[in-house]
Amino acid sequence: MQITFLGTGTSQGVPVIACGCEVCQSLDFRDKRLRVSIHIEVDGKRFVVDTGPDFRQQMLRERVNNLDAILFTHEHKDHTAGLDDVRAYNFFQKRDMPIYARKHVLEQIKQEFHYAFTEIKYPGTPQITLNEIINEPFQVEGVTFTPIEVMHMKLPVFGFRVHDFAYVTDVNFISEIEMKKLEGCKVIVMGALRKEKHLSHYTLAEAVEVLEKIAPEQAYLTHISHQMGLHREVEQELPAFIKLAYDGLVLKLD
Ligand SMILES: [Zn+2]
Ligand SMILES: [Zn+2]
Ligand SMILES: [Zn+2]
Repeated sequence: MQITFLGTGTSQGVPVIACGCEVCQSLDFRDKRLRVSIHIEVDGKRFVVDTGPDFRQQMLRERVNNLDAILFTHEHKDHTAGLDDVRAYNFFQKRDMPIYARKHVLEQIKQEFHYAFTEIKYPGTPQITLNEIINEPFQVEGVTFTPIEVMHMKLPVFGFRVHDFAYVTDVNFISEIEMKKLEGCKVIVMGALRKEKHLSHYTLAEAVEVLEKIAPEQAYLTHISHQMGLHREVEQELPAFIKLAYDGLVLKLD
């Protein structure tokens, strides 16, 4: 299995438009963060989790020339806005793009991209097949994904586990029951927005505390704001098994 971090930034991305802070002005490539998403290559199949506004750029950068399906964590715009660009895959793969999300996320997607779901379509509109998932393991192309239902303030959001890898982005609470699904993971990716308290995201300290409890071999933080600080400085403050993710980082797992 191979994981590629397509984007590791919070909703505005880093740098933030018009921001003069030291992180947004940094020349370190690790301080440039597109909106959060990962690419998972497993058992010869290729998946993307979320299609934020940078989806097109991410697919081009990583040369993702074919894609089997897309999974959605939740309906926020920084996770869905780029879905229209599946048109290229429709054209070259000659088929609809299957997407997997819970019911209310599918409803939101149908509203946002209403033109893709009308009876008579304008030529060239995205062709999408909707697949509803619930909080139970499901299979896509023979690969089993286990949803992990976490809370993002009041909104339930899905993280996903595949084999010994788990990906949880927008989160500020995980129940004991859902936490159990993360046990035994070798690698966990967890959202951590910044150091200061936030209503709907873990802070750096909160994410570290949760990860220390689960104790995977390796953990990476994502959904990072410019307010987190410089990549090279923040990374030095972390326990040895936790790192900040950065765009383009590739993990190879057995
Ligand atoms: Zn988000
Ligand atoms: Zn900034
Ligand atoms: Zn969100």
